[in-house]
Amino acid sequence: MNKGIGVVGIAGRMGQLVAEETLAAGAKLVGGVDRPEAAVSNSTVRFADVAALAAASDVVVEFTHASAVQANAKAIAAAGCAWVLGTTGLSAADEAAVAEAARTIAVVHAPNFSPGVNLVLALAEKMAAALPAEMYDAEIVEMHHRQKVDAPSGTAVGMGRAVAKGRGVNLADVTESGRDGHTGARKTGAIGFAALRGGQVVGEHTLLFAAGTEHIALTHRAFDRRAFATGAVRAALWVAGRKPGLYSMMDVLGMA
Ligand code: NAD
Repeated sequence: MNKGIGVVGIAGRMGQLVAEETLAAGAKLVGGVDRPEAAVSNSTVRFADVAALAAASDVVVEFTHASAVQANAKAIAAAGCAWVLGTTGLSAADEAAVAEAARTIAVVHAPNFSPGVNLVLALAEKMAAALPAEMYDAEIVEMHHRQKVDAPSGTAVGMGRAVAKGRGVNLADVTESGRDGHTGARKTGAIGFAALRGGQVVGEHTLLFAAGTEHIALTHRAFDRRAFATGAVRAALWVAGRKPGLYSMMDVLGMA
């Protein structure tokens, strides 16, 4: 790495920690961008836009808002800079823009950068493959702080995808989300989602397999979002200089 790491959304909760963790890892912090109205610390080198930041960086790490993803995908790919993307709540069109960028640059896209959560995702897939969907109902419950703007969380969706993969089905075909009112009985093979919001919870996820005879629960609790920032910087150091492609945190951790 020659130029260093740039941070998109550097005034945000995650962006500030990524900047700190970049320096803690002994890497060069190029600077950052954020919305014009967002206040950034005096010590931050603030770039005019994502294109300028990407041109000055080997890799940019982004935690912003889904509405920013499509334009940023184009700007970062045009600069030929690697991209670590942690923003959640992406639409299918946003995901397509990320995949398009990954044709020309190296991209790590992960709903969660914590090593513990990625281990849970690997276990979720194995458990789903071993526990028959006709007997074991899969339910995913997550809780986050009151400021979170999307639901279910990216990690909950990641858990759902892992279960669907283990069962050899498409998540969109079996999702039961936000049940309310007269919903009818649970469909066999459904993957259910419930989202709680409140206080300052950093992130809690439970995957439950419920059968008539037993329950098996896999729970991850994050106490400090620095766990995600450290993982994102680890991903940035790993992806800089790699060949174009769409990588996951499993690739970064050598668990793919
Ligand atoms: P936040 O609101 O504290 O920070 C977001 C920052 O992005 C803000 O400073 C905002 O001004 C900035 N921003 C928004 N649109 C922008 C744009 N177009 N250009 C530049 N900057 C822009 O939110 P947060 O808690 O830091 O979370 C940000 C995102 O990261 C969310 O989608 C969240 O779900 C996700 N997240 C992912 C992980 C993970 O491990 N993948 C972990 C935590 C949070």
